[in-house]
Amino acid sequence: MSYKKRVLVTGGAGFLGSHLCERLLNDGFEVICLDNFFTGRKENIAHLLPNSSFEVIRHDVIEPILLEVNYIYNLACPASPVHYQHNPVKTIKTSVAGTLNMLGMAKRVGARMLQASTSEVYGDPTCHPQVESYWGNVNPIGPRACYDEGKRCAEALMFSYHDQNDVDIRVVRIFNTYGPRMLENDGRVVSNFIVQALRGEDITVYGNGNQTRSFCYVDEMVDAFTRMMGTEDFSGPVNLGNPTEFTVFELAELVREITGSRSAIIHKELPADDPVQRQPDITLAKERLSWEPKVQLEEGLLKTIKFFKELLA
Ligand code: NAD
Ligand code: UDP
Repeated sequence: MSYKKRVLVTGGAGFLGSHLCERLLNDGFEVICLDNFFTGRKENIAHLLPNSSFEVIRHDVIEPILLEVNYIYNLACPASPVHYQHNPVKTIKTSVAGTLNMLGMAKRVGARMLQASTSEVYGDPTCHPQVESYWGNVNPIGPRACYDEGKRCAEALMFSYHDQNDVDIRVVRIFNTYGPRMLENDGRVVSNFIVQALRGEDITVYGNGNQTRSFCYVDEMVDAFTRMMGTEDFSGPVNLGNPTEFTVFELAELVREITGSRSAIIHKELPADDPVQRQPDITLAKERLSWEPKVQLEEGLLKTIKFFKELLA
């Protein structure tokens, strides 16, 4: 009989989820990875399969399921605009029905549940840097709405289950995170630029490139998840991200420089509703989780470039 605490990671075969499964196994938990493999890959978790504390379930969170677990990390949801806009209705169902199902399970088995929310709940923010008390500026019918409003509804569900049913909840608002195991064709800016630079293709900056993002290295984000799950008497929401802000054009130049690529930087049309600026205020995370990212963008990019070089070889 095992006395280890059991953890469910939905979206566990994805980019963040696979790193989280790895970390939780190292921390001595039993881990169940649940995924429908829409953007997740078996290769991301293949190295964990020999571990007897690791299990995988192919399942879609929009269908109910009951598992006896102590903790639930609900990460299931495509995160790249290209993927979440592929089937917007399914994206909404994943965030709304999926979170509802996981909350139902958490209530039934008494599990603590962490929801992967997003900086996108702030939309195209008029408050900069973004603090948790800011309510956001989201277009409810635009191309990003399926993701943004789905995640906003998921937050509302989390707090309603907490207030109404005493479910023990944790809500983290994740800002742009990058690292090994991003998909090569995922459409997000870091993977796009690195793959383009390594292949000698044009680096595609959307719009003039003056829009900003703040990029956090994956290991530090996963560390913050486990800290948040481990806190007592703090449900969040809490911003998690690296507060150092870059323009998209600066990122393109940096990637070109450190890959030694001769790719040209070209401009393409800016997608509708693309947020102009994004930077987390992480005062709360520092205070409540004693957490602050230390990995500089260049250092994290080098590790990510190494991953893509091996993948493309
Ligand atoms: P990802 O696309 O790599 O991972 C998502 C995982 O969820 C994939 O394995 C996918 O197959 C799975 N999935 C999708 N729909 C599902 C469904 N209906 N049922 C079961 N599994 C399903 O993305 P990621 O970057 O690892 O993001 C993980 C979570 O973190 C997501 O909820 C995302 O919204 C959130 N997030 C990520 C970032 C970031 O920068 N990476 C930023 C903000 C929020
Ligand atoms: N972007 C870009 N070129 C690309 C992919 C993205 O210029 O090939 C821009 C995109 O328009 C946005 C930023 O990079 O302004 C971040 O895009 P991503 O899709 O990674 O994340 P999000 O917009 O959700 O923050």
